[in-house]
Amino acid sequence: MKIHEYQAKAILKSFGAPVPDGQVATSARDVRKIAERIGFPAVVKAQVHVGGRGKAGGVKLANKLAELEAAADSILGMLIKGTKVHKILIETAANIDHEYYIGIVIDRARKNPVMMVSAAGGVDIEEVAAKTPEKILKIYIKRHLGILSFQVRQATYFLDLPRGTAKSFSLITQALYGAFMAKDCSLAEINPLVLTKDGEMMCCDAKMNFDDNALWRHPDIEAMRDEEEEEPLETAARKKRVSYVKLNGNIGCIVNGAGLAMTTMDMVKHFGGEPANFLDIGGGAKAEQVTEALRIVTSDPNVKTVLFNIFGGIVRCDLVAKGILEALATLDLTLPIVIRLSGTNEEEARAMLKDTALLAMPTMSEAAKEAVEVSQR
Ligand code: GDP
Ligand code: MN
Repeated sequence: MKIHEYQAKAILKSFGAPVPDGQVATSARDVRKIAERIGFPAVVKAQVHVGGRGKAGGVKLANKLAELEAAADSILGMLIKGTKVHKILIETAANIDHEYYIGIVIDRARKNPVMMVSAAGGVDIEEVAAKTPEKILKIYIKRHLGILSFQVRQATYFLDLPRGTAKSFSLITQALYGAFMAKDCSLAEINPLVLTKDGEMMCCDAKMNFDDNALWRHPDIEAMRDEEEEEPLETAARKKRVSYVKLNGNIGCIVNGAGLAMTTMDMVKHFGGEPANFLDIGGGAKAEQVTEALRIVTSDPNVKTVLFNIFGGIVRCDLVAKGILEALATLDLTLPIVIRLSGTNEEEARAMLKDTALLAMPTMSEAAKEAVEVSQR
């Protein structure tokens, strides 16, 4: 799950990192009040879940109220990489002397977090990583030790930070790492981490992504979700406890169990087709999830055929069949639907589906093959 910059900054602040004074707004009418409190120069920043806002014109500086209002007005409603701006962050502008990068992700191979720092921070860090990787220092963190002071010192020298900023930099690394671990982040970064002309360190941008599988233990983070920024089909799926990931093919797959869903996608590919999605209706799926899954999958205009692959272990095949029939009664679908149902109550399920247009297949491979053939007709 992603959150906005203003939310990530609030988290960083609660962990002791210095962030500019500011406030989020949804209308240009709010600007005057915020400006009266924080003063000038100020900066207006689009709050969207995509990067590269600076280059897209979504970050603007202002020295007086008229400029700030004009900037807010132009940024609200602007499109950044196809995403409409509904919120802006207005904050005290930093007087920038230098921009650094600092970020933490999980290094899967080492099974530990890795902190990356660079003196070439700012808007082009991806290019730095691709073209001049020697400008990025990687610090491997051991979870049972945390960031150690020698590692912070190493980063300080690598970045060539001026005297007097070491303590503040150390606090920022600890705050970023503390937040990363405590909130189960998959990524936490500050870019730019700014050295101001007054010699102070300031977190001028912040980004945090969270591990979806750990969200259940972070209701405070879940409450930060902004559905306006998310893929509508994936949001609808999450609400019904269906796990759905949209892909680019034309065979909509509806499967119970993540492993079986992966296998089904492999089978579709094996027979020369392309899956339109990953979808797991879950172990204990009831008719409601089946209906919702069918609705979601067929809302994708690319889908030409639907392939059900259900193994009745915990879930009962007759309940899935009931769900399919209920869904068909409400959804008005003309697409061919291929089904493989096997396991608990499969005979009952087949009997229920016998006099319908559904193509019931006895095995997974026959079903996948049939779905591919039908989609190519
Ligand atoms: P991003 O492009 O989406 O990563 O947005 P950022 O928040 O990182 O802003 C992009 C760039 O705008 C930064 O690299 C800075 O150069 C500039 N910028 C952001 N905040 C300030 C500020 O407070 N003062 C000044 N002078 N520049 C800023
Ligand atoms: Mn940035």
